[in-house]
Amino acid sequence: MPLVNSKEMFEKAYNGGYAIGAFNCNNMEIVQAITEAAKECNSPVILQVSAGARKYAKPIYLKKMVEAAVEDTGLPIVLHLDHGADFEICKDCIDAGFTSVMIDCSSKPFEENIAITRKVVEYAHAHVPYVTVEAELGTLAGIEDDVKVEHGAESYTKPEDVEEFVRRTGCDSLAIAIGTSHGAYKFKPEQCTRDPKTGVLLPPPLRFDILEEVSKRLPGFPIVLHGSSSVNQEYVKIINDNGGALKDAVGVPEDQLRQAARLAVCKINIDSDLRLAMTAGIREHFEAHPEHFDPRQYIGDGRAYVKQLVKHKIVDVLGSNDKI
Ligand SMILES: [Zn+2]
Repeated sequence: MPLVNSKEMFEKAYNGGYAIGAFNCNNMEIVQAITEAAKECNSPVILQVSAGARKYAKPIYLKKMVEAAVEDTGLPIVLHLDHGADFEICKDCIDAGFTSVMIDCSSKPFEENIAITRKVVEYAHAHVPYVTVEAELGTLAGIEDDVKVEHGAESYTKPEDVEEFVRRTGCDSLAIAIGTSHGAYKFKPEQCTRDPKTGVLLPPPLRFDILEEVSKRLPGFPIVLHGSSSVNQEYVKIINDNGGALKDAVGVPEDQLRQAARLAVCKINIDSDLRLAMTAGIREHFEAHPEHFDPRQYIGDGRAYVKQLVKHKIVDVLGSNDKI
């Protein structure tokens, strides 16, 4: 099976009450970990590439690695551009064979966001085969590669804007801001309460009222959540027990993401959790084997942890297992 776009995947996910995991990748081990996990869970999957990943690994390597994963697993896989900043980068990716792109003009004024998104949609939909386009309304706090928004400068999506935006742009899915956030430090300690037993920060709940209002106005339309790592504390603990120093790293609780996946959310973006799992595996390896210097040994352990994490997300958070 060749790479696919997200259209049919999202239709099935919407009707089936689950979401597709969109995992960021930037090297071979991460691509293998994600796709082998998806294969073992019989799950569709989205591999996404940010501007930072393109800079790090070069677009041609990423494309060929994802093609190798498609050939190796036989899975339906979407190759998606994460946070395309302008028309040109979206066009480059479409021309290079990406099957889905995100145009992110969410920090621009409403009319400008519509105009640029519309231009990308026209190009993507005229392409053969059809390329799906994700757009965004509202802004998330936090840091993801080149996308940086200060805490306090984020803004929730206004439900009254969504119908006009989708109608005028023709986008295929919409990322909304309901309180998720980019990075491994999603919330400042003062935004959270602290669990008296464990001392771990408990973040403010997601705004399900906004999600419900949006989905009422856009029936059947796929919604996307960015910044949806949960910063699983078992990996933070392994990192910190093995020489790391991650203080007050906090994410979105998995039960809330599970709930969102049952509603209109069809794509959930997960990046930081993969980074944490990879780092946990590598740190633990070096603590146990300080004499090792073969990268296959320690990166291999990191890959095993990423794979284990992705399987957990597919089965316990996204609900996309056995959906092929
Ligand atoms: Zn994002």
